[in-house]
Amino acid sequence: MAPIAVSTIHTLDHISGILKRDLLAVKDGSLGKIRGYCGSCHEPIKENETITYTQGVSYHQEHFVCSACTTSLSNCPYVMHNDKAMCEPCYSETVLPKCAKCSQAIKTEMVTISNLKFHPLCLVCAACETPLAGKGVYSEQAQNADGDRTGASEQQGERLLCQDCYEDRHLPKCVKCKKSIGGVGKVAQDYLTVGEDKFHVDCFCCYDCGAKFEKGAHKGPTGYYCKTHWAERSKAAIAAASAAGQPA
Ligand SMILES: [Zn+2]
Ligand SMILES: [Zn+2]
Ligand SMILES: [Zn+2]
Ligand SMILES: [Zn+2]
Ligand SMILES: [Zn+2]
Ligand SMILES: [Zn+2]
Repeated sequence: MAPIAVSTIHTLDHISGILKRDLLAVKDGSLGKIRGYCGSCHEPIKENETITYTQGVSYHQEHFVCSACTTSLSNCPYVMHNDKAMCEPCYSETVLPKCAKCSQAIKTEMVTISNLKFHPLCLVCAACETPLAGKGVYSEQAQNADGDRTGASEQQGERLLCQDCYEDRHLPKCVKCKKSIGGVGKVAQDYLTVGEDKFHVDCFCCYDCGAKFEKGAHKGPTGYYCKTHWAERSKAAIAAASAAGQPA
């Protein structure tokens, strides 16, 4: 008797079916000429039929097809996945992880950072595109609704940023020098809050002369001034206003 392909046994009905089939084959004399059973349709592969072997399983050549799209695999590259043959495009599409940056399948090297997978070269800052390999990587939640986002197709949820971009986007800014106050991994620098404005301690000085405010600061539309410069600016403003009010 030809060996029964173990993978085809599921139920008693199935087994008795196989026995009946083999008995018939014995009767008509074809049993000795069977080359095995097809891993796809489970029918015998007869002597004169073309056969494909892969991973110890034989197939009728026309039944050796991609388990996902049924393309014939006789003449194209394929991959075995969970004991099923798949054409390369289906394998890439349905099995391989996808890169969070370029959306393409990751076939070889992969970098995983906080649940996002990347080709090594695709791991770049989401804001400035600086490569992040070997650098500090900071994560933020991408916002959907507030107009901050440019590409609608950009992945939702988490975004990875370089340190500069992260600080730029998430730390309070000094109103004088416009730079971030504090920093990732640094002890937050001492800063001052004046009304709604925040300053580095050293930046809170007269915008004209740079003097520290010993006797209080004066806030104008363009900055903060010492007593002297506030007086000068007020005088100039009054002069300009009266010149505009009384054309020559
Ligand atoms: Zn078959
Ligand atoms: Zn396929
Ligand atoms: Zn990629
Ligand atoms: Zn960046
Ligand atoms: Zn500053
Ligand atoms: Zn001054």
